[in-house]
Formats: sequence, structure tokens, C-alpha cells
Amino acid sequence: MNFNNSGNYYGYGGSSERIKTKFIIVTGGVISGLGKGVAGAGIGFFFSSDYKVCPIKLDGYLNTDPGTMNPIEHGEVFVLDDGAEVDMDFGHYERFLDISTKNYQSITMGKIFQEIQQKERRGDFLGKTVQFVPHVTDWIQDRILAVGEKSDADFVLVEVGGTVGDLENELFIEGVRQLERRVGHENIIYVHLTYVPIPFGVNEQKTKPTQQSVDLLHKKGIRPDIIIARCGQMLDNNAKRKIALFANINEEDVFTSPDLDSIYKIPAIFENQKLMERISKRLNVICPSKRKLNIWNSLLNNEKDKKVKIAIVGKYTNLEDSYASVVEALQHCSYNLGVEIEVVWVDTSDDSFKSELNEVQGIIVPGGFGTRGVEGKIKAIKFARENGIPFLGICYGLQLAVIEFLRNECGIKNANTMEVDVNGEDLAITLLDEQKQVTKMGGTMRLGAYEAVLKESKIKYYYEMFNLINDNIVSERHRHRFEVNPKYVEIFKKNGLDVVGFSKERKLVEFIELDEKKHPYFVATQAHPELKSKLDKPAPLFYGLVKAAIEKNMEKIKVKL
Ligand code: GLN
Repeated sequence: MNFNNSGNYYGYGGSSERIKTKFIIVTGGVISGLGKGVAGAGIGFFFSSDYKVCPIKLDGYLNTDPGTMNPIEHGEVFVLDDGAEVDMDFGHYERFLDISTKNYQSITMGKIFQEIQQKERRGDFLGKTVQFVPHVTDWIQDRILAVGEKSDADFVLVEVGGTVGDLENELFIEGVRQLERRVGHENIIYVHLTYVPIPFGVNEQKTKPTQQSVDLLHKKGIRPDIIIARCGQMLDNNAKRKIALFANINEEDVFTSPDLDSIYKIPAIFENQKLMERISKRLNVICPSKRKLNIWNSLLNNEKDKKVKIAIVGKYTNLEDSYASVVEALQHCSYNLGVEIEVVWVDTSDDSFKSELNEVQGIIVPGGFGTRGVEGKIKAIKFARENGIPFLGICYGLQLAVIEFLRNECGIKNANTMEVDVNGEDLAITLLDEQKQVTKMGGTMRLGAYEAVLKESKIKYYYEMFNLINDNIVSERHRHRFEVNPKYVEIFKKNGLDVVGFSKERKLVEFIELDEKKHPYFVATQAHPELKSKLDKPAPLFYGLVKAAIEKNMEKIKVKL
């Protein structure tokens, strides 16, 4: 612990233990999609250099979690080690804070209502009418405090999902307002993220939407301490002055989150504006060091003197957020290998995609569900395999790579997955055993981190990058219902597609690879390695893909010369 004030106390149920936790509440105004998660992660990034930081996300929807939502509607479903399916902002928190988050850090209105109902049935409220205020709002605070206690965090960073003024997050706003009464003014800070547009033709930074959004927050009883304005440029003094005046804060507490080409530059931008100093001063803690910032800065300054194009082949390509972690993992490789990566989005729903694949040096078939676009993905895999284009298959990508290989190299023309053809005659991909009894859809896939045993010296980047010292075991996160049918394993192995990793406990196919003599880089995994990739520790299989793509490009340049 590194607090420089010794006199602060507040009690959980009357205890008077020394203060452990400071609360940073992040709300958003004006419009959605401003990057509250990234701004929160940017703040958490600094404190995590010297303190233990526990992020919490409050989501106002009535789903228990986003696991059953369409990624087009909600963006990528992020999966945690413990198997929780959570909002994609958890990806930002894990990548910025270098932590593994837990299910209990994701608090949705669906979970809150479920728990309140259970409490009511148990008789916890006997004699009382159960109401939004105080029962739901109390429960929200209890949950936030319990998470803080459980994680033993110095800082609990609470991101309130949605935009102030939404009916959906009203109870959360009221809950975090009341929290100040429980933990004390000196232990909580409210950070509000807003938007300052520069309308075309007017060419002036317009602060009115921010003024109105702060006004709305004031009416709800929250006085933001810090305002971060998302804007196309750095805020000018005039805009800062106006915002400070209307929000009743110091100009020094108005900050800019400008549009950037990479979210990893956010911490440096915040640091330049001394955001951490202001937050630390207000919370009366020692300002965190720049230890992590220095590591990131050295990576971000790497010269990108090479360029490759990598295709991401799927059916949700019109919403890039659906594959957010895949794109992040590529960014991590880009900084580590000094290469600019252009992502080429390829929609396989019809056949017109083929020409796009001619220009790329790498192909990724990421995770997916259902029937649409499947045959197109299989064609893309065939194209990668036959033309020596570096290929990485992720989850569905592995399953479809197996099908492609069985159909075109092993003579099993009707190979398919049960997901597409329930009664198919050659089902190379079938339901996992435990899935056969599953009737409920939410939270029932094979979810979370599982260990796999790698075949010695195969998938070399795991060895190169993750110091596998005593054993060849790796742990990656999963989210699937289907698996490779063991009946077909010997057939495709005999023909040259090797299984180079089995799950530790059950011998499910986890990693496959074509012999390096046959193909420079053809690798697929049943897992989602993108979920654990970090800026300073890129996921090994992505690293391998991008390295192979660079080599492929060099070859092409040589041929041209
Ligand atoms: N649809 C496949 C399954 O359920 C793959 C899932 C995925 O790619 N995440 O097994």
C-alpha cells in the first residue's frame, strides 16, 4: 500500500479498518461509442504501475451477460479465464492493466435483478416493499464494495455503461452517486467523458453538448471532478474555459482525449496533460510512476519499416468491433515486429471475395457461428493452403480447416460440421459430449481457460515467446460447443495435417499445423489466443503469422526485382 494519508476510515457495517480502497467512477455523456472503456483503461494503466487496480463494468441491459447477443449488435463477446462472457471493454482493461479479470467484475442489470429476486424469495426483505430505491441501488453499492474487498484492490475503477440520460443506466448512476456517502468524498472521484464536436464549415470546438451533459449529471446529484472531452483536436483554451465554467471545476481538470490512430497512445496523451497528477492529488495518494509508460513508449516508437496485408475472413466484417481482439493482437505484432499491418476485411457471404485474397500475405479465419459464409471461408482456407499464404485459423477457423483438408486432400468429399448439417454422413466436427444434454443457451459452451499439451518443438512461437521451461503446456481461453471428431484424426494426420496440441484433461484437438516443408505457416487452434494478447506480449500464433507474412512479402519483392 502506498497511501500517504493515514487518517481516513470508513466502515463496512461499522468496522473501522484503515481505508483500503479508492473509487474512480467513469461516466459518459452526449453520445455512445466515445471510448469510455479505453479512457478508463488509460487511467487504470497508470495506477496499475504501483497499485492494485480492479476494474468493474456496469451494464444496464437485462441480459445476464452478452454471451447470447449478436456481435453485430454488441461487439465482440470477451471471454475471461474463469469462463465468464463479458463486454469487450474488459479486453481493454486486461490489455492496459495486464491483469486477468473475473466474472464478478462484470455487473449487469440482468444479474442485479436476478439476485434481488432471489433475495426476495429467500425472505431477505420480509415485511418490506422491494423498490428500485433503496433496494436495487443499495445492492449495486454492496456489489461494488464487495468486489473491492474481494479483490483487495487499492483502486476500484467503475465504468458506468451507456450515456447519462439513458433510462437504462439510471439506477447505476443513482447507485454510484450514493456510493460517495458510504466511502467518503475523499475516497471517490467522478470522471465524465463527453464529446466536443467541430462541425464542418464552422470550424470551432463546440462545448454546448458537454455543458448540457454535465448539467444532466448535476441534476442527478453527481458533480464530476474531471472532464475528459473526446475531440478531433486538442481542446483550445476557450473551450476548456467554457467547460470549466459550466461544470464548476478548475480548467486544470478539463482534459482532451483526441482521435488517435492507436488506442495505446492514450496513456501518453493523458500523461502529457498531467491527468494522473490531478486524480492523485484529489484522492490524496502518491502519483503512480511512469514505469509502464516507458515500456509502452519504447514499443510505440518502433519504426514500422515494413508493410503487410492480412485478410480477416468472416461474416461480421461490416462491424469491425466483432473481431476487436483479433485486430488488437495484430496491432501488438505490428509494434513488436516493426511492420505496418493493413487489415483487409473479407466477407465470405458471396463469392466475390476471391480477388481480394490475391493481394494479401496472410489470412485469418476467426471464430464464428452458424451456416452463413461457411463455404466461402472453406474456399479461403483452400486458397491459403494451396498458395502457401500464411494462415491462422481460430476456433471455427480450426474446424473449417479440418473440413477443407478432409474434403480436398483426404478424399472425404462430404466432410462437414454438425453445426451446418446435423445429419451429415461425414461429420468431422461434432458436439462436445457434455453439450449433448445442454438445453439452455446462456453460458453453456466450453468456456474459459483450458490447458493444452503441445507436441515437442511444434508451434515454435509458443516456445520462443513464452519461456516454456519445464513442460510444454499452454493455457488459452475457449468458447465453443463443437470439437474435432476423433474418428477423423488419424485420417488427416496421415495426409500431413498434424495435431500438435491436445487438451490436457480430455485429449480434444487443440492445435493443428501443416508440416513446414509443405507450407510456410498453416496453423489453427480451437482456442482464442487473441484474448490474452498484450502490447508487450503478443499472442505467439499471431506473432508467427505476421512474421511469416513479412517473409512472404520479401519473397514477392525478390521475385519482382
Ligand atoms: N461455432 C463453433 C463452435 O461452437 C466455433 C465457435 C467459435 O468459433 N468461437 O464450436
